[in-house]
Amino acid sequence: MLINIDAGHGSNTAGKRTPPMPRDIDIDGDGKVDIKKGEQYREHYANVGVAVLLVEELKRCGFKTMQTGFNDANAYDDQDQPLDERQKEIAKAKCDYSISIHFNAYGDGVAFNSAEGVEINIHETHPKESKKLAETVLKHLVKGTPQTNRGVKARSLAIVNCEKLKVKGAILVELAFMTNLREATEMMANREYWKESAKEICMGICEYTGVKYIPELNYPAKSITPKSPSADIKWAQERLNRVIPNWLPKLEVDGVYGPKTRIAVLIYWDQLGWGRHMEDDGKTIGLATRQALAEEKKK
Ligand SMILES: [Zn+2]
Repeated sequence: MLINIDAGHGSNTAGKRTPPMPRDIDIDGDGKVDIKKGEQYREHYANVGVAVLLVEELKRCGFKTMQTGFNDANAYDDQDQPLDERQKEIAKAKCDYSISIHFNAYGDGVAFNSAEGVEINIHETHPKESKKLAETVLKHLVKGTPQTNRGVKARSLAIVNCEKLKVKGAILVELAFMTNLREATEMMANREYWKESAKEICMGICEYTGVKYIPELNYPAKSITPKSPSADIKWAQERLNRVIPNWLPKLEVDGVYGPKTRIAVLIYWDQLGWGRHMEDDGKTIGLATRQALAEEKKK
């Protein structure tokens, strides 16, 4: 099944941005300011942020994907692809469904206002299966971060015209209002919200198409041994530091699986009551251990 992901607008589309932000904003939580106080954040950037994550979600669940309005994770260099071009590309590829990602706006674009919520648009005269698809996706989207549900709306929008796109269904998701201060700062300019939205849209598509949703693993996929990639070993060391007793010095999170890491693994197994240390050397962190470590909270 082929699904098109469309990221609305382009990097330099006029309008289509928040009012000036009242404070510095760190979108991805890495401690660096991404939007400075007074700057206006552009809709296309957030659309691409969500779209890239949605492509990852869909691929993991076994869908084939294509994309219009963006080519990669760099949202700063995209021309605003004309809608008729987007339509033709989708029709030519013989897509099954198309999902367009947008953020909503209301008012003069200068001041924030109270319009808020999530909605999905379908075509008013050529919707084919879109209504049911939209309702299923919206059911998932309203979970997670609390938001006003504005429902499914029928409009005459080119990017959801199933006749022109030659698809079975097409929806345009307006994830939140860029002109609402809370939604602009906590949702549109927040990678966590992008991720949540991408996941929920994918879950909706899975439910609608009868495909099993495969969640992202929250631990390394392969067993961790002294020969594993250092990122995986670092993950284990950071997690082991959450569980080792206070009398033991914390592990250095250096990605090297040495004797201290090995002993920490043996102690962890002992704590779990697995008592395998008599016959095991602690050099392989298998599936059950990775799953247990993934659940360990930071102290
Ligand atoms: Zn838009």
